[in-house]
Amino acid sequence: MSEERSLNFIEQIVTDDIANGVNDGRVLTRFPPEPNGYLHIGHAKSIALNFGLAQQFNGKTNLRFDDTNPVTEDTEYVDSIKADIRWLGYEWAQELYASDYFEQIYEFAVTLIKKGLAYVEDASAEQIAASKGTPTTPGTPTPARSRSVEENLDLFTRMRNGEFKDGEKTLRAKIDLASPNMHMRDPLMYRIKHTHHHRTGDKWCIYPMYDFAHGQSDSIEKITHSLCTLEFIPHRPLYDWFIKELEIFPSHQYEFSRLNLTYTVMSKRKLKQLVEEKYVSGWDDPRMPTISGLRRRGYTPASIRQFCERVGVQKREQMIDLGLLEFCVREELNKTANRVMAVLDPVKLVLTNYPEGQVEEMTAENNPEDAAAGSRTLHFSKTLYIEREDFMEEPPKKFFRLGPGLHVRLKNAYIIKGESVEKDADGNITTIYASYLPESKSGGDHSGMTVKGTIHWVSAEHAATAEVRLYDRLFKSENPSAEEGDFKDFINPESLQVIKEAYVEPGLLQAKAGDRFQFMRKGYFTVDPDSTPEKVVFNRTVTLKDAWAKEKGKA
Ligand code: ATP
Ligand code: MG
Repeated sequence: MSEERSLNFIEQIVTDDIANGVNDGRVLTRFPPEPNGYLHIGHAKSIALNFGLAQQFNGKTNLRFDDTNPVTEDTEYVDSIKADIRWLGYEWAQELYASDYFEQIYEFAVTLIKKGLAYVEDASAEQIAASKGTPTTPGTPTPARSRSVEENLDLFTRMRNGEFKDGEKTLRAKIDLASPNMHMRDPLMYRIKHTHHHRTGDKWCIYPMYDFAHGQSDSIEKITHSLCTLEFIPHRPLYDWFIKELEIFPSHQYEFSRLNLTYTVMSKRKLKQLVEEKYVSGWDDPRMPTISGLRRRGYTPASIRQFCERVGVQKREQMIDLGLLEFCVREELNKTANRVMAVLDPVKLVLTNYPEGQVEEMTAENNPEDAAAGSRTLHFSKTLYIEREDFMEEPPKKFFRLGPGLHVRLKNAYIIKGESVEKDADGNITTIYASYLPESKSGGDHSGMTVKGTIHWVSAEHAATAEVRLYDRLFKSENPSAEEGDFKDFINPESLQVIKEAYVEPGLLQAKAGDRFQFMRKGYFTVDPDSTPEKVVFNRTVTLKDAWAKEKGKA
């Protein structure tokens, strides 16, 4: 937390609670993912909030898998969630599973039945919905509402024993069919699902609903501050009602706004569609807003934490510009990533007056922002590669790069002057010829010339070949979920461009997956796990400047 910033409203609540001796000043939060997909950047906000709050107030955070829905959950997701939280830099006090509380939650339900506060319902989901009334008209009781305690206890036991089919019975709380809050109109507590559960196997065929599992799990763990997103505000009276009637530990729920990012979809259901329908290569495709995708894209844990810190915690829904996330990683990599030269769209450059067969060793600083990063040696020779876009045959006035008669500096080497070109039958330039100024060598330049432009290069005989994957935003719409029709119609068709043969400094052959670099003048790149000893594959994390912001400015 930066020192100048004032407390957000949740920090204020915790500060007040501690001052008032609530729970003897103890702070215990939880992060409660449902293991039905991979974590995304929205979850990172919740993780940073829950774990950050505990760190700040000397508390602890539990990791609780909210695995009460057997249909969609899987251990693959459990493992990925744990790996992602640790990668973000957080460690939980306890790893817990809501399914471990099934017996206790069942006993809670029996308690409410005995108090006359829950009943077994025969009506179907449609019938229940139809009898619930509307926000302005009260609901009508179903015949089951007046069942005796004994009958309810018997039926609920038989539900557990598997005597009924899916949907044949449910357990409902008996609260208030006229409540202005629809969630209080005898909400469901249990449903029947004859489905195998990834942890409890076939032990259970009845499963508690979210509302009758979440608060109860919080209470069992003695969570002090249960943080969730705004859509749970109307559930809070129910959360409190169950705890009050069960006379169990009074956990409290607080709501904050979920993170929404431009040019992104965030719901796991939609992300899963992108994976299953092969719009992306997997949950960790570098275009995905998942933690594993961002990691593969080259994002660092610190940049994601920094992003969450900058986004802050609010009570109102908001849309955050994807540019802020990019800004955070750019800012960090500028300080930490070594600079290297990589030519992504190569064209051959021959220095006509450079001695044939001569090779010079040039010294190049690794990171001007970090003296401790040291320097490396680059080989320089007669034939080089430069970017095609750095040469123009008929340059306009302010083109400070290479052209016939134009001077430019080759980074860490010499000033050169463009001479002529060679073209293929289609008129494409195949070779550029230039001469170099021997007295202009970097570090000992006594040519007396100043040039405006510096371009990057690699020596043709020394360069290594690399594959470079240029990623851009996955959607061309700012808010694909709000568009009419299918969100997938708004996928950016140019979100991935693969360069099969880029030329890079040979030292990069030693780079390992996850290493990060600044390709000078081109952006920040990271080594993809698809790399082999013969061929390195790079992913572009982010460009050096926000190209889309410029685009917008034009419009
Ligand atoms: P999704 O709709 O993407 O499936 P979810 O809320 O169902 O998300 P959970 O696994 O239940 O996903 O979420 C775990 C925790 O992360 C919850 O406390 C939830 O509120 C929080 N969370 C999920 N998405 C966001 C988001 N976009 N911003 C902030 N917190 C989020
Ligand atoms: Mg959920």
